Amino acid sequence: MHPQDSVRTPPREPDSDNEPGSHSGGLRVLIVDDSPEDRYSLRRALRSLSSQTYEVVEAATGAEGLEHCLRSPPHCVLLDYKIPDLDGLDFLDSLRERSAAPIALVMLTGQGSETVAAEAMKRGAADYLVKSMVTPQYLHQAISNAIEKAALRRSLVEKQAELERLAITDELTGLRNRRYVLERLGEEVDRSLRYKSTLALMLLDIDHFKQINDRLGHLAGDSVLASLGGMLKESVRITDMAGRYGGEEFIIVLPETRLTAAAELAERLRLRIRERQVAIADGAPVRFTCSFGVTESGQGDRGPKDLIARADAALYQAKRSGRDRVCQLGPDPSSGQFEIGHHG
Ligand code: GH3
Ligand code: MG
Ligand code: MG
Repeated sequence: MHPQDSVRTPPREPDSDNEPGSHSGGLRVLIVDDSPEDRYSLRRALRSLSSQTYEVVEAATGAEGLEHCLRSPPHCVLLDYKIPDLDGLDFLDSLRERSAAPIALVMLTGQGSETVAAEAMKRGAADYLVKSMVTPQYLHQAISNAIEKAALRRSLVEKQAELERLAITDELTGLRNRRYVLERLGEEVDRSLRYKSTLALMLLDIDHFKQINDRLGHLAGDSVLASLGGMLKESVRITDMAGRYGGEEFIIVLPETRLTAAAELAERLRLRIRERQVAIADGAPVRFTCSFGVTESGQGDRGPKDLIARADAALYQAKRSGRDRVCQLGPDPSSGQFEIGHHG
C-alpha cells in the first residue's frame, strides 16, 4: 500500500447544496482502493464520460475512506473489496453503524464471487462489479443505480424515524404521549426499587378548563393546551419524561428527585403558569391556573400504579382545597396526611 501515492483532496465540510442524492452539480465519488493503478484507471473511466461530471476523491486505506465518508459523505463510494487495513465487508459494517444516513456504495473486486457479492449487498452495498469487466458506461450506470437506491433507503429511514416519533408524541402539545410516559415510569419505578434511589411523580391538571372551552371555544382551549405543553417541555430537565396524561392533565416523571424538590418544581411551574398569557385567534389573551399533585416512591410500592394513585390523590386534594396549588403525599402510610406545600 502506498498512501503517499494517493491524490488526496482535502476533506470538505458537508454542504447542503451538494447533498448526496441531489444530482445538480458534479457527483462526488470516493474511490477507496490501495492500488494506485486501480485508482488511476477508475478515475480515468469516470473522466471519460461526457454525460456526467464526477468530482473524484481518493483514499488509499479503508480507515481514510471511512473517515472521509463520515466527515463529508460523497454521493457514491467505489470500494475495493481487498484493502489491506480493512476488509471490504468490515468497511460496510462500520459505515452502516457510524454513518448518519445510508451512503451509496459499489463494491469492486479482482475476481467475482457470488458469495461475497451476496454478503456485500446484504451489508449495504448497492452493487458489486468485477474490476476487469468495468467499462465507463457500466460504472456510470452502477453509480447512478447506487445513488438512487441510497436515496430510497434514506427516505425510508427518515419515514421510519418520523413514524417512531409520532408513535410516542402527543400531537397537540408536542409532549410525549401517555403510553410512552407510563412505560418510562414503569422502568424508573423498577430502577428505584432495585437501587433504592428516589423517584418523584407529578400530575397537574388545568383548573376549570371546561369553562375556557365553553366561553372561548375549543380552539382557544387547544391553544392553552399547546402553550402549557411548550412550557412543560422547557421546564423539565429530561423532556422525555413529561407527557400528556389525558385531556387537560399532564404527568412528569422525575428520576433521582425527592418529594420536596418535586414540590418546589411544581410550585415554580404553578407560578409561571399563572403569569402566562396565551394568545388566541380573536380575543384577549387567556390566563389560566393549574393544580398539582406530587409524590415520591417508597419501598412499599409495588409498581407505577401505587405512585400514580398517590399523585392523583394529592391532585384531588389540591382541587378540593381551592385549586391553583400544590399538594404532596408521601409514601409513608403512617403519615397519611396530605401536605399542602404552597398556597396560591
Ligand atoms: P377542574 O378544575 O376540576 O379540573 O375542572 P375542569 O373543567 O378543568 O375539568 P373537567 O374534567 O370538567 O373538564 C375537562 C375538559 O377538558 C372537558 C374536555 O372537553 C376538555 N378537553 C379534553 N381534551 C381536550 C382537547 O384536546 N382540547 C380541548 N379544547 N379541550 C379538551
Ligand atoms: Mg381540569
Ligand atoms: Mg381533568
